Amino acid sequence: MFCAARTAFRRGFATNASVGGFTGAVGNTPLIYLKHLSEKTGSRVLAKAEFQNPGGSVKDRAALGVVRDAEERGLLKAGGTVVEGTAGNTGIGLAHVCRANGYKCVIFMPNTQSQEKIDLLRMLGAEVHAVPAVAYENPANYNHQARDYAKALPNAIWTNQFDNTANAQAHYISTGPEIWEQTRGTVDGFICSTGTGGTLAGVGRYLREKSSGKTQIWLADPPGSVLTSYVNSGGKLTERSGSSITEGIGQGRITDNLATIVNNLSGAFTVPDEKSIEMVYELLDTEGLYLGASSALNVVAAVELAAKLGKGSTVVTVLCDGAYRYQSRLFSKQWLNSKGLEDAIPKHLKKYTVL
Ligand code: PMP
Repeated sequence: MFCAARTAFRRGFATNASVGGFTGAVGNTPLIYLKHLSEKTGSRVLAKAEFQNPGGSVKDRAALGVVRDAEERGLLKAGGTVVEGTAGNTGIGLAHVCRANGYKCVIFMPNTQSQEKIDLLRMLGAEVHAVPAVAYENPANYNHQARDYAKALPNAIWTNQFDNTANAQAHYISTGPEIWEQTRGTVDGFICSTGTGGTLAGVGRYLREKSSGKTQIWLADPPGSVLTSYVNSGGKLTERSGSSITEGIGQGRITDNLATIVNNLSGAFTVPDEKSIEMVYELLDTEGLYLGASSALNVVAAVELAAKLGKGSTVVTVLCDGAYRYQSRLFSKQWLNSKGLEDAIPKHLKKYTVL
């Protein structure tokens, strides 16, 4: 298994040798030792710098994975169109991959997402449909619109990142092996939040297999997601309620990607927005890292998991993307006030709220 995974990793994602084009530069990101938080917890808190992918997020890997898979299966042909429903980052990854490979790219996304992501997608040549944010059960949900649009268009595919397990497979053959090699197999716990579940499932499965089940895999959730209660109730799916300022994470159902790990999780817990936004500022102040809210949520969760696993443990999480994609929100006094989060920023960190 190791050899097969490693060969695919060498073939499909970045290596230390020179690389070919955008797609060749995906992956092989650094694993950052979070010094202040590690010292505070007495554990090694490590974070995979996925914001360093060439398209700026963890989703470059999934984008490359689903396009490669469609090409290999003969579904995507020269000059074809890739259609996807996305909170933005998968779309940005796909827009890059499409430009680099001569495909057209059409993106459906909820109109609640940041303007930065919409603008960037358009600058990358994607056709963007920002549609009303409605529940998955509603036929007007952005995912169903993407599916229907692709069905009606000749030489087009819907990459279906939520239920296409080529997404998790991209992490199984790249992110997982990279973390294993970078830690020399010493990961006690891996934790991250999920949107499609691709990252958690792909990395989680790889680390569990390599460690013969010793590495604990945990799920971290934003408010408004049902996954924590699903895991902690032993598989009961509840109605979605509440919301979060974090973009790209939280889920109302068990996607096909998530299904490949959900029964092997050691646990799950929810991180309130107050803690995530405070960590956005703390990571900037203490580690010099300018990150989005899902990365911050993941770090809060990693610190909590380190406390659960005890001093001396090694915990790994994911830094999904940079704050550049959300700065008009995360660093705006007015926006924070509108979300009731002005008091979540401690006094000594308020100097960073400059917009
Ligand atoms: N963070 C951000 C900012 C994202 O855009 C996404 C993907 N929607 C995730 C985390 C979650 O990644 P995954 O889809 O692999 O669960």
